[in-house]
Amino acid sequence: MEIQKEIQKETKNSQDTGPVFPDFDQNLKIQGISLKRGKTLTCQINLGLLCNQVCKHCHLSAGPDRREIMDLNTINQVIQFQKKIGCEVVDITGGAPEMNPHLPVLIEEMAGVTNILMLRSNLSALYDANDPALLDLLVKHRVTIVSSLPSLNLSQTDAQRGEGVFDKSIKALKQINDMGYGKKGSGLVLDLVSNPAGAFMPAPQATAEKRFRKVLKDKWGIVFNQLFTFANMPLGRFERWLKKKGNYDAYLNSLWKGFNPCTVDGLMCRHLISIAWDGYLYDCDFNLAARLPKGNLKTHVSEIEKIDFENQNIAVGNHCYACTAGSGFT
Ligand code: SF4
Repeated sequence: MEIQKEIQKETKNSQDTGPVFPDFDQNLKIQGISLKRGKTLTCQINLGLLCNQVCKHCHLSAGPDRREIMDLNTINQVIQFQKKIGCEVVDITGGAPEMNPHLPVLIEEMAGVTNILMLRSNLSALYDANDPALLDLLVKHRVTIVSSLPSLNLSQTDAQRGEGVFDKSIKALKQINDMGYGKKGSGLVLDLVSNPAGAFMPAPQATAEKRFRKVLKDKWGIVFNQLFTFANMPLGRFERWLKKKGNYDAYLNSLWKGFNPCTVDGLMCRHLISIAWDGYLYDCDFNLAARLPKGNLKTHVSEIEKIDFENQNIAVGNHCYACTAGSGFT
């Protein structure tokens, strides 16, 4: 809770007083920490920046006007990559992956070459897709659905994500619950992700999960497996919003003050490879948004012959402070 109080105190004043934090890489040096890649366990595939929503916190600035989506040729290169690397988890994200017409091909192919296949959905895109064949495919391959649901409040959600999003999200959750998702013994996992409405830290995960479980069940009969809470990443649309409000430096200063060295070992960039819609590799999805290529070297997925990423450097920026504040991001 300390870091949350700190951020609220720092950002209460809308005028930035300028940065006092050292750059993230300098801070690692000061702390005597070396951040290197470990074994690559997760292959995250960003199917594009096209999205049906224009969320205020989106670190990728995704939206309906974005045209960047992964084409079939790149999807085939990604499938070949996973066949070589054999990651335990394949995590499909966007934008809204449902808006990429090649999503079913990717699911069919990846289902046979990974232990856990995950699809990230903003829920309203799943509802808008109105595609029973896609839903059947998710069930057939036991695809884990990870859904973003920032708040249990209609007006708060719609203010952050767009008018009508909350209603559609609830309808989509009911629909996938009816198919068995989130229900004990079904083997169909439904996880939720919640993030704060503004420049503050999320509530502790266990507390938020308890509240979401009760309210969703009591009001709509909705069940789910786990809830994850994440801080907003100071990139993309959220970065622009922070700067417009004069809160960017204050937010970063607070994240820096909350730096927790114990989070470094578990950072997602140590065990994940992120593949952008154009096939280029990143250490994580946030670096993709910041256009910081994997290890600061631009590499295309088609160039990789074998996986020898262990002990390689990880590209970092000041947005990394959001991953290491308090109990961490990942
Ligand atoms: S934002 Fe930085 S610390 Fe966080 S996962 Fe990416 S590279 Fe690692």
